[in-house]
Amino acid sequence: MSPKTTIDDVYAQTLARNPGEAEFHQAVHEVFGSLDRVLAKHPEYVQASILERVCEPERQIIFRVPWVDDTGRVRINRGFRVQFNSALGPYKGGLRFHPSVLLGTVKFLGFEQVFKNALTGMPIGGGKGGSDFDPKGKSDGEIMRFCQSFMTEAYRHVGEYTDVPAGDIGVGAREIGYLFGQYKRITNRYESGVLTGKGVTWGGSLVRTEATGYGAVFFTQHMLATRGRSFDGARVLVSGSGNVAIYAIEKVHELGGVVVGASDSSGSIHDPDGIDLELLRDVKERRRERIEAYATERGGRARFLPGASVWQIAGDERVDVALPCATQNELDEADAARLVANGLVAVAEGANMPTTPGAVRVFREAGVLFGPGKAANAGGVATSALEMQQNASRDSWTFEHTEERLSEIMAGIHERTAETADEYGAPGDYVVGANIAGFIRVADAMLALGVI
Ligand code: GLU
Repeated sequence: MSPKTTIDDVYAQTLARNPGEAEFHQAVHEVFGSLDRVLAKHPEYVQASILERVCEPERQIIFRVPWVDDTGRVRINRGFRVQFNSALGPYKGGLRFHPSVLLGTVKFLGFEQVFKNALTGMPIGGGKGGSDFDPKGKSDGEIMRFCQSFMTEAYRHVGEYTDVPAGDIGVGAREIGYLFGQYKRITNRYESGVLTGKGVTWGGSLVRTEATGYGAVFFTQHMLATRGRSFDGARVLVSGSGNVAIYAIEKVHELGGVVVGASDSSGSIHDPDGIDLELLRDVKERRRERIEAYATERGGRARFLPGASVWQIAGDERVDVALPCATQNELDEADAARLVANGLVAVAEGANMPTTPGAVRVFREAGVLFGPGKAANAGGVATSALEMQQNASRDSWTFEHTEERLSEIMAGIHERTAETADEYGAPGDYVVGANIAGFIRVADAMLALGVI
């Protein structure tokens, strides 16, 4: 069978076996799109059915999460943990709390996580979890009771050597705290390495909060350098205003770039004079308000674009770099075309799969540098692995040392990705490079471990 036929067959099987899970299909299709040249070179992967195996999670856990709201009413949500692949280490990946979360969402994120984690070069497998719980508008007490109930079921499936969850959309240090507290209480173990993204006074790592955003900017720096460019003076659009976006903006500003737009689910802000990060953090992190408040309080030339995506700003001004840091499929073909027409040089995915397949095509055809999430946003999970190292050795590193490690890891990911793309005849194609480099590391470990 030719590599192409094998890939088509396994993809058809994946569609049939996982009906209705469009995001999972999209993630598998994207990785498979890079693998024909790998199978041509490695027939042993076909013989061992590695493709079939990587699409089938090792274990999928779905559970009921009952909790009591502030009015005394019992509420029910659904909890998930998909333990996708543990060939390289314990399952590792975040938890997402968002009303849109379905099993297919968690599977797409878990599948991405397997190859992203492999690409970091660190000893971590891939998994993901979450719930359709909506944290928006919930009180602190409600969040705590939900997290405690979630962990009351999840504790039996996780562990320092088994599965190590962390944050994702809707899950930050506050939620990790409640989850860790409940794990500690049920197990009577202070097992710091069971979760990452902890607060620094109780086992967390410095730089973990900043890592995904900083890492995406470091990766972009390396891509820009291949064209003799830098962030100095660059005009940048960042979507989102959560943890990834905030620290991407901070690092871009530190490197001399100007971020002129950000967003949340209610709309976008355009600030041609550069985003005032302190004000944005005050609105989004401390007060947890809608982003419109930023434009109102900032005044001057800042404006709020209700319901608009941040990419629409590209119609009004030059944009050199786009950093999608919000959520999946948030940047489509029309957005990509508008960005390209306005001089775009580079895109790096701070979020997981934010760029639609059509938009990726537009960027690649236009010769725009495109850093896929598996490579560009791997700094978050890589720093989680550094947190696990610190927990295992009961140590805590300085900010400078940890940031230096993150910066080296991102440089390594860039190099590995670029070299793999060259080796497989696709120079400059970071999508091909990231998919192949991640896949080969996982596939070789699976081969070595036998039929399991
Ligand atoms: N949720 C993040 C990601 O998408 C981080 C996962 C982790 O730190 O385990 O990679």
